[in-house]
Parts: sequence; C-alpha cells; structure tokens
Amino acid sequence: MNITIIGAGPIGCYAGYFLAKAGHTVTIYENHAQVGCPIQCTGILTSDFDQFQLPMESYLVNTIDTIEVYSPQENVAITQKDYIVCRTKFDNFFATMARDAGATILVNHSFTRKEGNELIIKDTINNTEIKITPDIVIAADGPLSPTAKAYGFFHPKRENYFGIQAVVEGKFEPHTIKTYFGNIVCPGLFAWVVPESATRARVGLATLRNTKKYFDTFMKEHNFTSLEIQAGAIPVYNSKQQLHKDNCYVIGDASGYVKATTLGGLVPALRQAKLVAECILKDKKIEAEIAPVRKQMKLHLKVHDIFNRFTDADWDRLVRYVKQPKIQHVFEQYTRDNPLPLLIKTLLKEPRFLYFSKYLFS
Ligand SMILES: Cc1cc2nc3c(=O)[nH]c(=O)nc-3n(C[C@H](O)[C@H](O)[C@H](O)COP(=O)(O)OP(=O)(O)OC[C@H]3O[C@@H](n4cnc5c(N)ncnc54)[C@H](O)[C@@H]3O)c2cc1C
Repeated sequence: MNITIIGAGPIGCYAGYFLAKAGHTVTIYENHAQVGCPIQCTGILTSDFDQFQLPMESYLVNTIDTIEVYSPQENVAITQKDYIVCRTKFDNFFATMARDAGATILVNHSFTRKEGNELIIKDTINNTEIKITPDIVIAADGPLSPTAKAYGFFHPKRENYFGIQAVVEGKFEPHTIKTYFGNIVCPGLFAWVVPESATRARVGLATLRNTKKYFDTFMKEHNFTSLEIQAGAIPVYNSKQQLHKDNCYVIGDASGYVKATTLGGLVPALRQAKLVAECILKDKKIEAEIAPVRKQMKLHLKVHDIFNRFTDADWDRLVRYVKQPKIQHVFEQYTRDNPLPLLIKTLLKEPRFLYFSKYLFS
C-alpha cells in the first residue's frame, strides 16, 4: 500500500516505522526544514514510556525521582520516576527509526488542502505543488492539524490550551520537578519548573486564556530570566473525537490524545500510533482497539473537569490529604498515566477524597 503521513513529529514517525517495516511504501511530509525544530514541549515522559522498550541514550537529558506539588498554602513531595528528553533529539530518533525501516521523509513539504481524493502538498523551497492520491493518509500534523480539518475530523467544540515555556539558568534540585497549583498561579492546570540539570531548567505553564499574563507573573515572582522561549497549542481531549474516516486516520495531537490532567501527549499518542499501525496492517477497527486508551483519557478528562472547579482552598485540602504517608505510598506505586488504580486506592485509604465528588454533579 501507498501510505502518506502528514507530520514528522514523533507520533507520525512511530506509525511510519511500523508500516514501512511491514513493507509498505511510506512517505512522511513535514512542513518545517528540520525534524524536531522548533521545540514546543517540556519533554517529560513518565516511566510508562518503558513499555515501548526503546533505547534512550540519544535523547535523554535528565532523570527525575521526585515531584514537588505546591498549592497556595501547602506542599508535598512525591517520589516518582520521570524522564526529561530533548525533543529535537527525541523526534529525530523516531524519524531515523522510520527512515531505517524504509520510510521517506520529505521536509519543507506542507499539506495545504484536499481536492476530492487528491492531497495537495506544497514544496516550500521550490514553491511548487504536488498532487498525491495515497491509499491511506495519516494525519499526524499536530494540534492544529490542517489534514484532520480537511477530512472533517475536528469537533466543533475542540479547544486548545496554550503553553509557554522558558529555558532558564539558576540553581535547581537536579532530580526534582516542582509544580505550582492555584487559581492565581495557573487556573485549570499548573506551572512547572523542570530541571535539565542543577543549573538549567524549563519553566512554564499552560492555560486556556491569558497565558502570557500568567507566565510573565510566574517568571517575575520566581526571578527567572528567559534564555529561550517556546510556545504552542495543546488540545483538550474530546471523547467524541473520531480516529478513522474514509481513507484517513488521525493520531497524536491532531487527534487530541493528550492527558487532560497534565497535558502530556507523548506516551498516550505513541500507544495510539502503534495501535493505528497494527489496525492498518491487520485490517482491525481502531475504535475497538483504542478502547483501553480512550478509557484512560476519559478519566483524565473527568479529573481535569473537577480540578477546573477547584478553589485555592480545595487545592490546599487536596495536598493535605496527599501528604499523609499512606496516600503518598499509593502515589509512589502508580504513575499518573493510569489514574484508575490511583483513584481507587487513594479513595479506599482516605474516604475524605469524596469531598471533591461534589464537583462531579455541579
Ligand atoms: C509548552 C508545551 C509543553 C509540553 N510538554 C509536554 C511534556 O512534557 N510531555 C508530553 O508528553 N507532552 C508535552 N506536550 C505535548 C506534546 O508536545 C505533544 O503531545 C506532542 O508533540 C505530540 O506529538 P505529535 O507528533 O502528535 O505532534 P507534533 O510534535 O506537533 O508534530 C507534528 C508535526 O507536523 C508538522 N506539521 C504541521 N502542519 C503540517 C503541514 N501542514 N504539513 C506538513 N507537516 C505539518 C509539524 O511541523 C510537526 O513537526 C507539551 C506541549 C506544549 C505546547
């Protein structure tokens, strides 16, 4: 089969790798001049990334052992293993995997529109257009995905967070991520300080509105000066999002497969890319195969909806509950990728968490 993938991000390239390895003709079109540039990501992977059994030496920047959570009046430190990666190197790792398996990656080639069955790709160096009619199209062109839009995938209520991050220098605990919650700091989500090393960190936040205002305030309060600014859209997961229509599949940020609680998109979308490739190869239905991932994404969204209604006093109450050794112990056993066992175990050990269920029904 002739398979076209729009977008040479990690998710498109991972799908391309499986499909090319199986002997299909895979062409990946990337509108930028280089894979992995510009960076629009903090590069945090939970240890659930281990499931992919991929070597990390070429892109691993740091390993985290602790996450500190600050609410307006409280704080707690939770032991959790995370990886911090360089997104340029990470994306190139997946692009090399795809190329080595036989895929072709064409940079400076931008999907522009669809005319009937034809996709129109612009060669931005030569300023020419090419028309292609692949057997299968995979839209992996990120949160604003022109391809998913052209195929009519976007739900009318689709929303995006906007994230801004700075690379800063200073003194940091090298293996501790700090997160700051509260309506004054970052309504609906949290601000982060993620160390690359003891002297360099990625500092940022994401909100639905007024991101720059919250970001500038956070930077000022912590006395950070930015060496480099990165920013981008991050979709809010929508459980009604279809993944397959006509000859097109949509994956990664294009499909909104991002955990609504943390806006981490890499681990769930890599799982999704692998499943989509399997469905194409084995003629299976993606909607059935994706069900376990979708279940997790829905739960993240539910928790996010509750957090969205939190007052600052609620954040303090939550941190107070989590601070108890019996609850911290549960947090140390499960990653945040899979919230169901985490929620069940914490509720069993601390029924006062039920206090927050009032937001489920209001
Ligand atoms: C500030 C910020 C911080 C984040 N931090 C994290 C984090 O710590 N951990 C995490 O898991 N996730 C994080 N995310 C989310 C994460 O970056 C995405 O989930 C991830 O990049 C999705 O990968 P993707 O391959 O689907 O899309 P992308 O990485 O966006 O790749 C899409 C590719 O398609 C290309 N493209 C776009 N339009 C076209 C076109 N018309 N034609 C051809 N090519 C096109 C783009 O240039 C790009 O290379 C963060 C996002 C932001 C904005």
